[in-house]
Amino acid sequence: MTEVLSYLSLGSNMGDREGYLRAARERLAAAPGIQVLRSSPLYHTRPVGKTDQAWFLNQVVEVKTNLRPEELLATCQRIEEALGRVRHERWGPRTLDIDILTYGTLQSDDPHLTLPHPRMLERAFVLVPLAAIAPEMQIAGKTVRKYLAALPSEELDGVVPYRPRGEGSNADV
Ligand code: ATP
Ligand code: CA
Ligand code: CA
Repeated sequence: MTEVLSYLSLGSNMGDREGYLRAARERLAAAPGIQVLRSSPLYHTRPVGKTDQAWFLNQVVEVKTNLRPEELLATCQRIEEALGRVRHERWGPRTLDIDILTYGTLQSDDPHLTLPHPRMLERAFVLVPLAAIAPEMQIAGKTVRKYLAALPSEELDGVVPYRPRGEGSNADV
């Protein structure tokens, strides 16, 4: 079966955020048909869309998969549910969100699974971690590095490297 490289965006802004991201990576790695190849650093990020909520921890992981796109989405959604995600309001607080950013070079405008993820190119909390592991990946003819460079600095200010412990920690913000 063909194997495809896919990038996933992980986010959490409730409870033990770091623990949720770690558990998500472990569950992805344990899922049949998914190999986790690389993980970006963690970033502490200002919420966008619905701004009156806690800051997120965000990360991007690179996986290799022989699952079909809809199977990969179903697996991600099962992991979200297993880790306690309750769907209340769009863009509201959540223990864990997993978005499929890209699935190989597949393009899809199906609302159930749109690829590449339709809002990824304007999101600093996606592009900063993605650029840390895949700066030269092309999306619609441009590199991730270029999309990142085009973001306004106010957006970039809302994405800071995560400092989990000790002096200058932002773990509890
Ligand atoms: P956003 O998509 O703007 O980041 P969100 O992650 O909060 O918002 P969800 O409530 O998690 O949105 O997902 C809503 C629906 O989006 C899901 O049920 C899923 O079918 C659909 N969806 C479409 N494209 C994708 C994708 N590339 N990755 C994950 N879900 C997607
Ligand atoms: Ca999302
Ligand atoms: Ca989502």
